[in-house]
Amino acid sequence: MKLPEQVYQFGFGARKVAIVGGVHGDEKVGVLVVEKLRTYLEGKTLTGTAFLIIGNPRAVELNKRFVDEDLNRLFHFEFDTKNPQTLEQKRALELAPVLEQCHFGVDLHSTIKPSVPFVYTKAGGERMKLARCFDVEYIVTTGTPTLNCLDGFIDRNPVDGQAFTVETGWHKDLEKVDGIFASVVEILNTLEVLESGVPPGKRKKPQELTTYLRVIVDHPSFRFTQELANFQRLPAGTVIAKSDLKEFRLDRDSVVLFPKSLLEVGKPAVTLAE
Ligand SMILES: [Zn+2]
Repeated sequence: MKLPEQVYQFGFGARKVAIVGGVHGDEKVGVLVVEKLRTYLEGKTLTGTAFLIIGNPRAVELNKRFVDEDLNRLFHFEFDTKNPQTLEQKRALELAPVLEQCHFGVDLHSTIKPSVPFVYTKAGGERMKLARCFDVEYIVTTGTPTLNCLDGFIDRNPVDGQAFTVETGWHKDLEKVDGIFASVVEILNTLEVLESGVPPGKRKKPQELTTYLRVIVDHPSFRFTQELANFQRLPAGTVIAKSDLKEFRLDRDSVVLFPKSLLEVGKPAVTLAE
């Protein structure tokens, strides 16, 4: 198979893993980790196969989230795949044959606003064991994988892959690179793709959260009753939002995830976890 631009293969073993950075071009931590891994794996003997992938090379070059549209919303392939219209649609189609073969995948992202690092993953399989290789505050598990994201695509590929997203923290915080790199090497060791690597670092035990509800904007009048922050804890009974149709009262102690600042009817406003 001819590899797409900025996709690098190390090893030819049966167990295949994708390590992806730069799906969003302005999130440099993942890109730097992938580059560091390229140097590290050069000359090493692999028992499995590692694909190191720069998600959106053109956006990385431009230091922009994307060129035409968000690549991480296209892995449902609900666009005209015979006649892709945007640079990102073409890139998603190019990456699909590589991702389809992968048994495991890690997609490295960072956040525009300062945030604690966390892993976002579907529950089950070996994902939790692998997620714990990262020095993060939280592991957020969800029953439903995000259908349009790259990790969700690996999750439902023909080889029954398992993948998750790591949010490494604020995108300007480049000090994270060495720690994330060590975690990815540990994953390659754990998966027996790479025989020996750097010893695992000391890390804190992440708290595990499970999502239980996505609050959807039901009406143009929908408003949060207070400013919500990612990972904010709120007690049962708190009214977090109101619209002309109803109020949204927490039925249990909850942790707030991904509150949106731009609210659109029919789209999620916030995710709740416990
Ligand atoms: Zn991102």
